[in-house]
Amino acid sequence: ARWQYRVLHRASGDFDIYMVGSRMPFVWAIVGLSAGALLMLPAAIYVSRRGARQAVGAALQPLEAVARQTRTIGPADLDRRLATPTGQVEITELADTVNRMLDRVDRAHRALESFTGDASHELRTPLSHLRGQAQWALATGRTPEELREALGAIQREVERTNKMVDDLLLIARGGNRQIALERRPFELEPVVQEVEEIAQAMAADRGLAVQSVIENGAVALGDPDRTRHILLNLVSNAVRYTSEGSVTLAVRRRDGNVGVEIRDTGPGIAAEHLERIFDRFYRVDQSRSRALGGAGLGLTIARLLAELQDGHITVTSKVKQGSSFTVWLPDANA
Ligand code: ADP
Repeated sequence: ARWQYRVLHRASGDFDIYMVGSRMPFVWAIVGLSAGALLMLPAAIYVSRRGARQAVGAALQPLEAVARQTRTIGPADLDRRLATPTGQVEITELADTVNRMLDRVDRAHRALESFTGDASHELRTPLSHLRGQAQWALATGRTPEELREALGAIQREVERTNKMVDDLLLIARGGNRQIALERRPFELEPVVQEVEEIAQAMAADRGLAVQSVIENGAVALGDPDRTRHILLNLVSNAVRYTSEGSVTLAVRRRDGNVGVEIRDTGPGIAAEHLERIFDRFYRVDQSRSRALGGAGLGLTIARLLAELQDGHITVTSKVKQGSSFTVWLPDANA
């Protein structure tokens, strides 16, 4: 029964000193404590489990609130946002992220809505013209000559409307990055020459000089067909809006970009309109643009096609002196 006693032995000169102490009181105390602890264990487990559950529940509450609020946001209430702060940093961050995504979805949704609204509004004009022309032609007593004339007018209006629908489709697809674009080095010179020839044909019956200043060896990185499309839009504006003087195409270089400038001696564009002319359907003079066959989409498409090629368009203009539009693309030699 060694464990019951502790024996201390000291040899001190001629004496041997033994001290004997009983361990029993400690033993009983330890047994008592252990028994107590054992008895309290289930209670402790219960309490700590409950505590843990409550703590996790409290931590999850903000997350559940975020989930609940997210579920209630549908297409009709894209302007609603999740409540922040949520009471927990990480979950507030999550809610902020969801809110930012909602901002983007809301913006895209609004843009789509206004696009559809604008497009329907713009299509109404040619359709009502067509109806008027058809009604006029159907009235009794029209001579064959008059009927031919009416049909000619109807055909022109249909062609113009057709172009507008094509342009709208291009804008819709381009906005969603759903149009195929090449990205390869191509020489600007042949493209500029081709556009110049088309511009000369467009200006043939007008007292307008169309010329170009070509610089050999300018190579852009992008899509030659889309670039031609941009230049045609810019040149067709220059020729249509300029009644006398000249339209000049010139190759430019600046800061790792190559560009084609189209300069005209036309009416110019006042500063307050300058920043809006790239908006779809925006026309400085609605009736003038329509009379010239425009739908206000030419510059929207030009800018879209330039941006899809990592390029951009700059414009400077002075009223009564003329305008200069330059399309810039990455320089393949830079
Ligand atoms: P539109 O089909 O009306 O020409 P655009 O998008 O091509 O549409 O141009 C928008 C508007 O910008 C035009 O209606 C016109 O008022 C103005 N504009 C564009 N290019 C020129 C230019 N070279 N000279 C004067 N005004 C211009």
